[in-house]
Formats: sequence, C-alpha cells, structure tokens
Amino acid sequence: MEKVYVGKTASRGIAVAKIYKYEELDLSPVKCKVPEQDKEGQVSQFLNARESVKAELEKLAVTNEIFSAHLEMVMDFTLEDSVKSKINNDAENAESAVSEAISEVAAVFEMMDDEYMKERAADIQDVGKRLMAQLKGVELPDIGNLREEAIILAKDLFPSDTVKINTDYVKGIITEEGGVTSHVSIIAKNLGIPTLVGVKGILGKLNSGDIVCMDAEEGVIIISPEEAVLNEYKQKKQEYENERQRLEKLRDNPVITKDGKRISLCINVGNAEDIERALPVKMDGVGLFRSELLYMENTHFPTEEEQFQVYKRAAELCPQELTIRTLDIGGDKELPYFEFEKEDNPFLGWRAIRISLDMKDMFKEQLRAILRASAFGNVRIMFPMIISVEELREAREVVEECKKELREEGKEFCENIETGMMIETPASVLLAEEFAKEADFFSIGTNDLTQYLLAVDRGNKKIADKYSYFHPAVLGAIKHIIDAAHKENIKAGMCGEMAGDVKATEILFKYGLDEFSMSAGSMDYIREELLKLTI
Ligand code: PEP
Ligand code: MG
Repeated sequence: MEKVYVGKTASRGIAVAKIYKYEELDLSPVKCKVPEQDKEGQVSQFLNARESVKAELEKLAVTNEIFSAHLEMVMDFTLEDSVKSKINNDAENAESAVSEAISEVAAVFEMMDDEYMKERAADIQDVGKRLMAQLKGVELPDIGNLREEAIILAKDLFPSDTVKINTDYVKGIITEEGGVTSHVSIIAKNLGIPTLVGVKGILGKLNSGDIVCMDAEEGVIIISPEEAVLNEYKQKKQEYENERQRLEKLRDNPVITKDGKRISLCINVGNAEDIERALPVKMDGVGLFRSELLYMENTHFPTEEEQFQVYKRAAELCPQELTIRTLDIGGDKELPYFEFEKEDNPFLGWRAIRISLDMKDMFKEQLRAILRASAFGNVRIMFPMIISVEELREAREVVEECKKELREEGKEFCENIETGMMIETPASVLLAEEFAKEADFFSIGTNDLTQYLLAVDRGNKKIADKYSYFHPAVLGAIKHIIDAAHKENIKAGMCGEMAGDVKATEILFKYGLDEFSMSAGSMDYIREELLKLTI
C-alpha cells in the first residue's frame, strides 16, 4: 500500500475502482526537409489529412458543440496558410509543418496568465492530435470504449476525450498534467466525477488493473489498499454520495432565505456548451458570459453572424437572464490574429472597453449580434473595466446606434435590453453612486478589483499570499458598491471567484448581494449555505 498526497482537487468526491490507463500515442512528428519537387505532395498530404479530420469532426459535431469549434479551427485559413508556408518556404514535411503550426497557436493561449484562458490551448492541441494521427495513419484511442467501472489515469485528457466519458463506467479521473481550471477539470466538475489533476509522477506508479482509493476531498490517492483501508473508503464514498444526493434535492427550490429574500444563483460560462452542461444544477441564469473566448478560440474576429448564432443558442438555453459581457481582451488575454502593441503594464493598458470604444466597427458587430440574440431570450449587456461615467455613456450610445440600425433594417431585438457594468476598478467603486444612476445593474468583478485595490497582480505566484478578497479594503469596497446600487434601486451581483467561495457567502449575503454568479461546480455548496442564512 502506498499513499500519494495531491495538492490540487479539480472535482470533489471519492472513488474506489481499478485503474484504466489511458495511454497516449506517440504523435511526435518525424521531421525532414523536402526537396522542391516533393512540396506539392506534402501540401496534398496535409489537405487530405484535413479532409479526413473534417469528416470525423462533422459527425461528432452533431452530438457535441465542442466539435463544431474544433471543426472551425481545423478548417481555418490561417492554419492552412501557416502549414503551407512552412512546407513551401521552409521546406518542412507535412508532419513537421502541422505540428509547428499547431504549437504556435497553442502557445498564444499558454502564455496567458489567466488559468482558464491558458487551458484553451487544449482545444487547439486536440485538433492537432487528430491531424497528426491522420498523417501517421494511426487510430486515436477512444475513452468511449470503456465497459467496466474504472478510474481513468492519463497524462492529460483532451476535450474530445472528455465528451466521450460515460459516467456509468468512469468513476474517477487522475491526470499527471493539467490545472484545476483545465478542460478536464471543468467537465469532471459538471459530471460530478472525482478528479485529481497535476499529479506529478503518477503514471510511473500505476498500471491498468491496479486497485486505487482516491479521495478528491482530501487530495489522497491510495495505491493497492489493504482490506481495512478499502472498506474504510467504501464507507466514506457512501457517505459522500448521500451528502451529494441531499444537496441535489435542494436544486429544485429557488433560493429564498428563511426571512424571505430571493437570491439569484447564476453561472459563469465561456460558451453556450457550458450552459448546456450546467443545466442539471438548476441555475437562475448566466451572470457572466465571457464573450472573449469566442474571439480567442477563433482565427479571425468573429463576424456579427457568427456571434449571433452563438449568443442566440445561449439565450435559448438559458432559463432566465443571460448576461453577455462585451469583449474583455488585453491584459493577459491576446488574440492569435491581432497584433497588440507591447505595453509595459498590460493590466493597466489597452484592454476591455477601451479597445471596444477605440475599435467601434468591431464593437458594433458584437453589440448588433447581442441585440439580435435578445429576441430569443432574456439577454443583458455588460461592459467590463469601466472607469468613468463618460465611458459608460459612450458605450450605451453605441448600443443605441446599433438599435437604430437594426430597427431600420427591420431586424428583431429587445427594445428594453438592460445594459450594466462590471465594477472591477477602484474608480468605479468610488463613483458607484454616480454609476448606479445610469447603469441598469452592477456585477462586482472581484478578480480584477482585488488586484487593482491591493496593487497585487492576480497571476503573480510570488505575492499570491497577499491577494485576498477578504482584505478589509476589498470588503469595504464591496459593501459600498452594494449600498450604492440599492440606493438607486438597481441589483448588485458578483461574478468574480469570491461569489463561488463558500467562506464568503455569509458576509456577501449580509452586505445584501442580490446575485451570486460562479462556476457551476460551486453552485450546490453556495445554495446550501444561503438557505441556512437569515438577514
Ligand atoms: C473579474 O475580474 O472578477 C471577472 C469576473 O472578470 P475576469 O476574471 O474575466 O477578468
Ligand atoms: Mg475582470
């Protein structure tokens, strides 16, 4: 028997089962220089491989939207241009050109500080794996073939693996790589599969068939447990499942506290698929739709029509409000197809609403798409990083301009669509009373607000101990924002990570927060906590 302690829990729970080692194929490229006369052949090899991947993905896209995104990635002309240029100009063979082109796009995501964005690289690499398998003429292993209960052990799981997970058989997941915001972690949380990620060296310790107890509450893996330990974990697992069932029973009731206050519980998402996956947790709506993902996962600025399709689908899926935040790039979030000028302080630089107001045509395409989607659900528009009332007014004027155009074109939209703002800069805290007179709602972005109020970079590990939304300055700011909102009879929500932290629930509730928006996996715990409270 051996115990392995793990730092990061991606999805809670306990599992006792045999290991199924999900081995990766070696898809590293065989590199060679090609003579002039062979270049055309290499380009054809790439195009044929892409055709086969396209056919695979088209079939898969019927069942899961993630593959539609992959399909777009594989067919994108910038990928094609990049591969062709490597073959024609650098005399690389197809395998090498594809591998490098994919790595370059993935690197843009990997370089970002934001963990969530960083992990989007997995989707690009996933597409790359398919292309490489085609070029090499090998078949990728398929997690969907598993037919007995097991804990999956893998180096990492990619989006196309995770969508094939059948919860009847997959009882736990352990990966050697990946972070708590990685794709596998998000999916596992939504499916309720206990998951531990980033477990260094674990692949070398385990083989298929080994019995393992994993406790993703405590972050422990027990390899080949003794009889008594095995029984102890079976018992723990039962207790955990009873607790889950108890929490799930609470899902059908709206959160009304003992003394009658209705609190809205919403989720944060990056695409329509996230909403679909989260439907079982019974949220009131989406408090934050990070629209930048749509821009970042693309290889061109998404057109009005492309955006409209995504927002419309999200609006139709959403039980109540869908709050779409307008483009929030800059800082650590870059676009693979747009050159940002180098800045000394990108977090204090050209980002979010500043970019939108400077690039009006692009901003209008987004706003027109959101407005058109508002005919299909309860859509709200939210502006990020506002620091002055003038900015808010200017942004709202652009909304009015778009409405006028759509009216003239006879296109449908909701005339009374709400426009609100994130409160995530110190300036917006100090001006909260002014903003509350004009905005339709507030959503507190504690991720940025904490870093700006405390002058502590949210991604800098060296000073991570100083980054705390429990700092009295942050708490004071939150209280001030909520009071300012209520004075003008508008709602104050929160979509920063603090809203999903059960340790903060009571204080936020007592400050009067109206809406908590968080990752779907936190919802059951926050709901339970809120139901215990009274004003
Ligand atoms: C925030 O700043 O709290 C927020 C929700 O936005 P993001 O994390 O996307 O910057
Ligand atoms: Mg922010």
